[in-house]
Amino acid sequence: MKKKHLALISLYVIENNGPRLIAALLRNHGYPVTEIYFKDLINNKIVYPTKKELKSLVDLLKKINPDIIGISVRASAYHEIAGKITSLFKRELNLPIIWGGMHATVCPEESLKYADIVSIGEAELAMLDLMRHYSQKEDITTTPNFWFKTKGGIKKNEIRPLLEDLDALPFRDYVSQDKYLIKGHQVKQGEPIRHYREFFISASRGCPFRPCSFCSNSQLEKVFKGKGRYYRIRSVDNVIEELRQAKKTFKRLKRIRFDDEVFNFSKNWMREFARQYAQLIKLPFEILLDPRAINEENLRLLKEAGLKTVNLGIQNTERINKSLYNRNTTNQEVLRAARAIHNLNLAVHYHLLFDDPVSNTRDKSDLFQLLLRIPRPYDLYLFSLIYFPRSALTERLLKENLITENEVEINNQKVLRQWRVDLSYPRPPEDRFWLSLIVLLSKNFVPLSFIRWLSRRKFLMSHPSGLVYFAQFSNLIKMAGVVLAQIIKGEMTWIKFKEWANLRSLITQ
Ligand code: SF4
Repeated sequence: MKKKHLALISLYVIENNGPRLIAALLRNHGYPVTEIYFKDLINNKIVYPTKKELKSLVDLLKKINPDIIGISVRASAYHEIAGKITSLFKRELNLPIIWGGMHATVCPEESLKYADIVSIGEAELAMLDLMRHYSQKEDITTTPNFWFKTKGGIKKNEIRPLLEDLDALPFRDYVSQDKYLIKGHQVKQGEPIRHYREFFISASRGCPFRPCSFCSNSQLEKVFKGKGRYYRIRSVDNVIEELRQAKKTFKRLKRIRFDDEVFNFSKNWMREFARQYAQLIKLPFEILLDPRAINEENLRLLKEAGLKTVNLGIQNTERINKSLYNRNTTNQEVLRAARAIHNLNLAVHYHLLFDDPVSNTRDKSDLFQLLLRIPRPYDLYLFSLIYFPRSALTERLLKENLITENEVEINNQKVLRQWRVDLSYPRPPEDRFWLSLIVLLSKNFVPLSFIRWLSRRKFLMSHPSGLVYFAQFSNLIKMAGVVLAQIIKGEMTWIKFKEWANLRSLITQ
């Protein structure tokens, strides 16, 4: 049996775990896989593929001559671009095309308007099955986890139970040379992130909490209903072994970033992790946490193991979190977590979510007051609320006529224009006023007494332009300091710099 060759295209994301895991698993089973990383995301900027880039992509595919093409479409905002690329492939190449990734999982019908096959849910084992059937010239249309466009209509197969043992998967493959990056005039062979100084890893899949209504976990909850345990954790040994290998492969590695939705704080796992990490990895690391998961004792253990930075999801006030976002976090929990982080002298990025359609003046003021009580110093990662298709929040707001279908991401590309908040984005004067004040809170060089004084100026609430300029200028000063510090520590990469350095729409820190 000749094993079929898969070309796997990652659209607009170089650090994409999905294709790397699928490629690693298929290669382990002897299937040739070529990974193609087509362009990368730039914060708050839509960059359509150029004719030159599309030609490079088609020329490369003709040269490597695969039997089947997979396209990873992570965000629904890329639906249209992925559609155009798929139509181009149909004209230029006579090959079956599969869409996978988050968008395909949540919007399979829409994806099948362009793709021949859609992969739903976790794709590693599903792709292995599909490639096996395809190589053995068997009927592939019965393969679980896929929907097929057939002459008789759409063939919808069930999804398999969720993989219980994450350790059964191989590590992502950073060694194979069968990969390309296409960007601008460049078609470069080899692993595009081998020069990175930061290594991204997840020790778990899913989220341990009830899904927040805005989050992709609320979309996936419906997809995986009845398919087994959604929140799964890798063993400490498995995580540490991947990090040991990464240290050998990534020669310039300076830092580890754990991308778990919420870093696993269960006592035994965490203790064992801290012990092994301190002994064997010895690199500064960063985690994402939820206020509900923090206790000072655990944080201290992680700090002793090398924890340097915590990302903490606050999102909004207790009232908005509960009534709109289905999050049962209290303001007290937020303040307790913030104090624990502060007491341990850890760097922290607080994540906040803006632009919801229900917050009133009181809510906006309450959020400002809550943040005033959080000890400085800190960074703020301010995000604009995005209406992902079929999330619990989107469905509710559509039902209540608080948003329209045009605002939902498949019909909109807001996530590409305003994911991280920038103050130049059009907003009502009152929102610009509160946002500017909040931006100033994370600037240690602006006294809190002055920010409080500004917050009491009624005139500024209706005429915030001067305040907005001041906040933007403070952002610029802080950003320059952050970039300088990272250059000195050797942690700044060109990709990171470009993500931040869009001066026309400077994101907040
Ligand atoms: S926002 Fe965070 S806590 Fe809420 S569901 Fe998503 S990952 Fe979990």
